[in-house]
Amino acid sequence: MILVSACLLGLNTKYNGESNAHALILKYCSLGRFIPVCPEQLGGLPTPREPVEILNGSGQEVLSGQSLAQGEHGEYVTGQFIKGAYEVLKISEMLEVSAAILKERSPSCGVNYIYDGSFTHRTIPGQGVTASLLREHKIPLYSEEDLTDELLKELLGV
Ligand code: SF4
Repeated sequence: MILVSACLLGLNTKYNGESNAHALILKYCSLGRFIPVCPEQLGGLPTPREPVEILNGSGQEVLSGQSLAQGEHGEYVTGQFIKGAYEVLKISEMLEVSAAILKERSPSCGVNYIYDGSFTHRTIPGQGVTASLLREHKIPLYSEEDLTDELLKELLGV
């Protein structure tokens, strides 16, 4: 089974109530091997919600208590981000997940890059909070931007 950011599968879980539906991922949906997860919803945040970025660091620093997740208007949502990450980890352990495909640049799901905390669309290298926790637990991570048809077939064993 493969964890997939719910928004990439077309679910309207994004902060603005929309999705990031990804045609290549959807092409393989009918195989029944994808598990949609949205860590921000699993952490208790509503949809729509304020956009959030990580201040002074990445997901790893949030998990170790050295950095915070903050909404655009100043509300801290660090606890919800951490809770959501651990809920996704629990799902990955329940269902023997072999990999995760997560949305690039998200403060929860970003695999290679996240926004830099300035809310100016600038990115920095690093992982989101959920991506960091899954990586700590040795789950191979891919962003939707890493995917090719060949890679997806290889991950699915088809
Ligand atoms: Fe998509 Fe992840 Fe953001 Fe949820 S937290 S909307 S799954 S990028």
